[in-house]
Amino acid sequence: MVDLTTKLVNVLGDKTATPLAKAFDMHVVGDLLRHYPRRYVELGKPTNMSDLRVGQHATVLARVVEAKNYSFGPGGKRTRTEVIVTDDSGARLSLTFFQQRWLQDRMKPGKMCLFSGEVGQFNGRLQLTHPDYDLFDEDGDTAASRLSRGVLPIYRATAKIPTWKLESFIALCLDSLDEVDDPLPEQVRTAHGFAGTRAALESIHRPHTMGEAVTARARFRFEEAFIVQTVFAQRRHALEDDRAAARPAVDGGLRTRFEQQLPFTLTAGQRAVVEEVGADLARTHPMHRLLQGEVGSGKTVVALMAMLQVVDAGGQAALLAPTEVLASQHFRGITALLGDLAKGGMLGGADGATRVRLLTGSMGAKARNEALLDAASGEAGIVIGTHALIQDHVQFAELGLLVVDEQHRFGVEQRAALVDRSDVTPHVLVMTATPIPRTIAMSVFGDLEVSTLRELPAGRQPIQTNVVPYAERPGWLARAWERVREEVGKGRQAYVVVSRIGDEPSESDTSSLVELHEELVHGPLHGLRVGTLHGRMSADDKDAAMNAFAAGTIDVLVATTVVEVGVDVPNATVMVVMDADRFGVSQLHQLRGRVGRGSEAGLCLLVTGAEIDSPARERLDAVASTTDGFELSKLDVELRREGDVLGARQSGVRSSLRLLSVVKDEAVIEQARAAADEIVLADPTLSHHPTLAAAVHELEHSEQADYLERT
Ligand code: ADP
Ligand code: MG
Repeated sequence: MVDLTTKLVNVLGDKTATPLAKAFDMHVVGDLLRHYPRRYVELGKPTNMSDLRVGQHATVLARVVEAKNYSFGPGGKRTRTEVIVTDDSGARLSLTFFQQRWLQDRMKPGKMCLFSGEVGQFNGRLQLTHPDYDLFDEDGDTAASRLSRGVLPIYRATAKIPTWKLESFIALCLDSLDEVDDPLPEQVRTAHGFAGTRAALESIHRPHTMGEAVTARARFRFEEAFIVQTVFAQRRHALEDDRAAARPAVDGGLRTRFEQQLPFTLTAGQRAVVEEVGADLARTHPMHRLLQGEVGSGKTVVALMAMLQVVDAGGQAALLAPTEVLASQHFRGITALLGDLAKGGMLGGADGATRVRLLTGSMGAKARNEALLDAASGEAGIVIGTHALIQDHVQFAELGLLVVDEQHRFGVEQRAALVDRSDVTPHVLVMTATPIPRTIAMSVFGDLEVSTLRELPAGRQPIQTNVVPYAERPGWLARAWERVREEVGKGRQAYVVVSRIGDEPSESDTSSLVELHEELVHGPLHGLRVGTLHGRMSADDKDAAMNAFAAGTIDVLVATTVVEVGVDVPNATVMVVMDADRFGVSQLHQLRGRVGRGSEAGLCLLVTGAEIDSPARERLDAVASTTDGFELSKLDVELRREGDVLGARQSGVRSSLRLLSVVKDEAVIEQARAAADEIVLADPTLSHHPTLAAAVHELEHSEQADYLERT
């Protein structure tokens, strides 16, 4: 017998298991059985061939009307078989096959077949060229039993492994599958009327009615939410007994003096969050708060005031930034904003002033040691750094607050690493510029309270975003470079952003950036001062480039996404994003937040070769059509989860949230959260729920955890 951990090769043999591993990263029976149908076809119901759109990858169940062979080519030696099919909607579709003369006999009029392929158009008629097909006659019995069930599953498939092959592999596994251990505790199953895993797997893959499939999907959807919520319930539970030092605001302290000397007044939203965070810090229970706010909403000032409150109360604060560029920029910005208040122990320092230190991986030994020393002695009230802060076992005299900027770049584990190191748990404030709808915040950041900055400081300029499709409109790209020249002519500056190819900065990214730079300085941007900034430059060079851009001695900065987060040069008014379709929605939204930060309106040009009507273009159009980050992040999450269904066809990519939509399934997530809380409260270590414990462990160590952190 077989269970979910049995290797696929043992059930299906090498010839099947190897392609499955390659195409879908499936290795054990569980991987295959968790590949749920993406939809179902009800036999006898119209498949709605009339809804087909050109360019779509479609699977249709259709009846053959006629099949005819035609000869063509030199000497008439080649054969084209044209098959006309129809469904109950009455629409007709023509299928074209080459060199398969025998098909004419097999595709008998009236025969039902499944066809799958790319929808094209020929002489005004929709057609599938060279589709995959399933004639239901591979084996009389199976075909009959599949047809008699009346509901056919349609799987996300590849050209080599079409949906019906997956169906047959899954059938083989299901036929020999033992009873399966269930991650859902019995009491939860009973309360919700859910079937066990084994039965539900049967129902989701081989349903007899749509109702049966829907019920099974609801169960697995709940299961996904439940496992995620169990992780968060455990985290919340673990934190309950944690004690932090209370850091109440001190009258006339640095925080107050800082606010008095600010060159602007706080927005009402900033005020409210400063109060909210201030109250949290005054408690002996550690704060775990997510501060979300649009790009440019002024999160840094809020965080700085929280840090100062902690310093006033005798503690230290650490600010963790995702990149060196951002860490140095925070260091410069915060030191400047603090002015004399940051000159503790220095000439010209204000009374009671503190010290701000920067700590990054590539700093010189001397500067590093100074920073380390000041952190350990407590001289530095504020330490700003990158991952180096975590990795280098930095000692703090008394770490009271950890601020994590741009959370989506950090994992919970890294956050935990710093928190665990201190004797007393520090308070934690996490900031993100990717606004997160409430449901997502709940499912993703289930262990955090959430504050939101909704308004931008007054006087912010709108950002106009245009898509530049160079394939259809070659002239527009030239126009884009002209716009850059015009802005520079007005004394403004521009970014040109080049996409990264993989997750890590690579040689080829650098070379494509360098190439583009060459092209621009010898072509459309001739005569302008054009600099470069990319991940492979040394920290000093990066700093120099950023500083030159900030100082205005460079007109145009050609950069990789190191400029994505937080970079603040108010004089920059245009951004050209090359191959914008390679970026995610939220990433583009963040990127364009780099322009229009000053008194002038911003312009963002999304250059793309993606075809009109393609999902990539739809994404870009969405970004161009709204500046509402909340709308976009919803869309982003939806697209990422459903990207495969929508035609991205990244068959190798697997997300563990297969059925759950963190946008649509708010009610499910809430129920799952309540159920998880109850289980964890009664059994915090899940000792009575070994299967659940294993699922939780797997989730925490999987790529999904990564996915969850990055949303
Ligand atoms: P983000 O939320 O994207 O991190 P920042 O904190 O970098 O935004 O703030 C963007 C810019 O707005 C900074 O230059 C900051 O000094 C400025 N700023 C912050 N708060 C205000 C305010 N209330 N009025 C005017 N400018 C502000
Ligand atoms: Mg920021």
